[in-house]
Amino acid sequence: AMAAGRAFFCAPSSIGATARRLAFASPPARPLASAPHRRVRGRCCASISSSSDASPPAPPPYVLTTPLYYVNAPPHMGSAYTTIAADAVARFQRLLEKRVIFITGTDEHGEKIATSAEASGRNPKEHCDIISNSYKMLWADLDIEYDKFIRTTDPKHEAVVNDFYSRVLSSGDIYRADYEGLYCVSCEEYKDEKELGENNCCPVHLKPCVPRKEDNYFFALSKYQHKLEELLTSNPNFVRPSHRLHEVEGWIKSGLRDFSISRASVEWGIPVPNDTKQTIYVWFDALLGYLSASLDDGEQASLQQAVDRGWPASLHLIGKDILRFHAIYWPAMLMSAGISVPDAVFGHGFLTKLLFILQILGWHEDGKIARQHT
Ligand SMILES: [Zn+2]
Repeated sequence: AMAAGRAFFCAPSSIGATARRLAFASPPARPLASAPHRRVRGRCCASISSSSDASPPAPPPYVLTTPLYYVNAPPHMGSAYTTIAADAVARFQRLLEKRVIFITGTDEHGEKIATSAEASGRNPKEHCDIISNSYKMLWADLDIEYDKFIRTTDPKHEAVVNDFYSRVLSSGDIYRADYEGLYCVSCEEYKDEKELGENNCCPVHLKPCVPRKEDNYFFALSKYQHKLEELLTSNPNFVRPSHRLHEVEGWIKSGLRDFSISRASVEWGIPVPNDTKQTIYVWFDALLGYLSASLDDGEQASLQQAVDRGWPASLHLIGKDILRFHAIYWPAMLMSAGISVPDAVFGHGFLTKLLFILQILGWHEDGKIARQHT
């Protein structure tokens, strides 16, 4: 499990260069005065009430996230790459005297995790405990100074997901419908036939997708087409680097389709409120870890409290394969729930060059870079 991390550790010069490049890609220090136009209600109230106090209002924290890594398999090069880069950004922001909340964690629900657990002869909870802990050990080995580690099986996270679901429901953006399509279990996603290769193979996993029919709950993403276009126009730095912004603009232009946010066939997940026969789709659950991470253990967990504590995120640092979820699904979900969207999403490429060098040196045997979920 830890081999990837240790191999990584053996190549300090390459890592240093990589981390430095990514640190330069972090947003420049921004004068706080430019922030208020997109701050959430909670923040506005905080600054109004504190104007009568002697002490100045606390500046908003710099909230930085890595994806919450999917625990179907142990940590891998890809997750180490993003986390090392994020750690460099966090250290840089601390040098600028920002109050940094650096969030990482593990995404622990879904069919693929239940299957992995079964394959290793464990129940899902045991499996998640082991893999999640192996991430913590790797981050300790690599001296990653995160502030919050969220697990999506944490009760405080489940409370936030429930609150969020009811807000989106009361916005009228959740409906029930039959769905029939081709499903990639590894992506945990229904695919458009036109994006699939020969034999209906998933372009990411190169495995055939399976036909599936389900009665699911859907999120009305199509309602947010115009608002997402406006977001990208008003904040061209929302998606970086710019060629990824163009990719996202292309997806939106080609038309957004509602997506199903529940699964009837998956038991290992958070039950849909008012319908315990279904569980919440893993992405509709895991993205909320960026909010629930700010809550302390054992406190009365609520979505509003999480928002007040550390939102909006200043930067989501992710791999390019999960750009659609972060740059389209996530802001639309937040808009529906009446919560501010993050400042920026940075999608980096894969670590193919360094991996190639490590393979030549015999430091890394497996040619695959792990897929990162949230
Ligand atoms: Zn796939």
